[in-house]
Amino acid sequence: MAKEELECSFCGRKKSETNLLIAGLDAHICDRCIEQAHGIVLEESKQGGTSELSSELMLRKPKEIKKFLDEYIIGQEYTKRVMSVAVYNHYKRLLQPATEDDIEIQKSNIIMVGQTGTGKTLMAKTIAKMLNVPLAIVDATVLTEAGYVGEDVESILTRLLQAADYNLEKAERGIVFIDEIDKIARKSDNPSITRDVSGEGVQQALLKLLEGTVVNVPPKGGRKHPDQKFIEVNTEHILFIAGGAFDGIERVITKRLNMQAIGYSSAKSGDTVDHDNILQYIIPKDLKDFGLIPEIIGRLPVLTHMDPLDADTLRAILTEPKNAIIKQYKKLFEMDEVTFTITDGALDFIVEKAIEYKLGARGLRSLCEEILTDAMFHLPSSDEKKLNVTKAYAEEKLSKSTLKKLKAVS
Ligand code: ADP
Repeated sequence: MAKEELECSFCGRKKSETNLLIAGLDAHICDRCIEQAHGIVLEESKQGGTSELSSELMLRKPKEIKKFLDEYIIGQEYTKRVMSVAVYNHYKRLLQPATEDDIEIQKSNIIMVGQTGTGKTLMAKTIAKMLNVPLAIVDATVLTEAGYVGEDVESILTRLLQAADYNLEKAERGIVFIDEIDKIARKSDNPSITRDVSGEGVQQALLKLLEGTVVNVPPKGGRKHPDQKFIEVNTEHILFIAGGAFDGIERVITKRLNMQAIGYSSAKSGDTVDHDNILQYIIPKDLKDFGLIPEIIGRLPVLTHMDPLDADTLRAILTEPKNAIIKQYKKLFEMDEVTFTITDGALDFIVEKAIEYKLGARGLRSLCEEILTDAMFHLPSSDEKKLNVTKAYAEEKLSKSTLKKLKAVS
């Protein structure tokens, strides 16, 4: 008798009718059934994944969030606390079950004011990393009102979709960091003859997005693909964090503080003003005086400031965070079995130069790179297994001309 042809135990197709038949203990499965089953698994895990996301989010209390931030960000104590609470409240709002009462928790979008290089982007990145949610970093300066040269405001959500690998559900719980928000401040109080398409117009376009709305988003972005199908993205649960240097806002704050000092409250305000860190006194009105429209300010209710980085902070940034620059170089050298050490004198020297040339925290990396490039070039193919960077070594590698070059690019 001819041997019976094998068949798929799920759909009954004969082996000859399939491309592939895989044998199990006492059953077989064909390629088509595998694909179908895979689809079901994906679908199920998507649903399961959401609840996993939810429980994960609930686990972090503000103190735990702050602790996580501490591992990556030096100083900025005030902002770290404010952010921890805002993020916690935001995700609490997102996870709240529908209740009978009419209390609706408002979105806690955040605005961070601080000089460039003080860690605003790092803050947003670290929060997204901790929550394991997608993060889109966008630059407000490229945004223009719809129809003008530049990017439409919706492109922000295209970026978020891309960061979420086009998983809509994930994107709708993600974080958007809008950098340089100060650059879209109204140019002047005088509504001039020319339309302010990159200033107030963009602020108006951003309003709805910040508040929570359903937006038709071109998945590939831009206007280059006119025939693409739009994806509907609901921004209701997206956390927006805006950041900006607000150059010159210190003057606005100082002026207000002086006015207050003259006013009736001067008697009780015996506190002296810390002129090295004026930003700490910022209030929403200052943002308005700077040129943000009140509606935008209202939709970014959590206002916080970044402290300027002093020498001690810069020194700590070099060595302390979880992925501190010096730790990264140690690891790089270790891969070539080279033991890398650096003296306190050399570290102080790097900080000194970063301050002297106004390179800020961003300059620390470029300075290290300049100092270590020679060693990173030669050591991998030499027998030398040790590198100790002293102040003299650093000084030798950092000639005046390289410092000038660094200053030019920063
Ligand atoms: P900003 O967005 O305020 O311009 P970034 O977040 O991009 O600044 O910071 C610039 C660089 O400096 C980053 O590489 C970041 O790691 C580092 N940095 C800045 N501030 C801190 C800080 N407080 N702690 C640790 N690293 C910092």
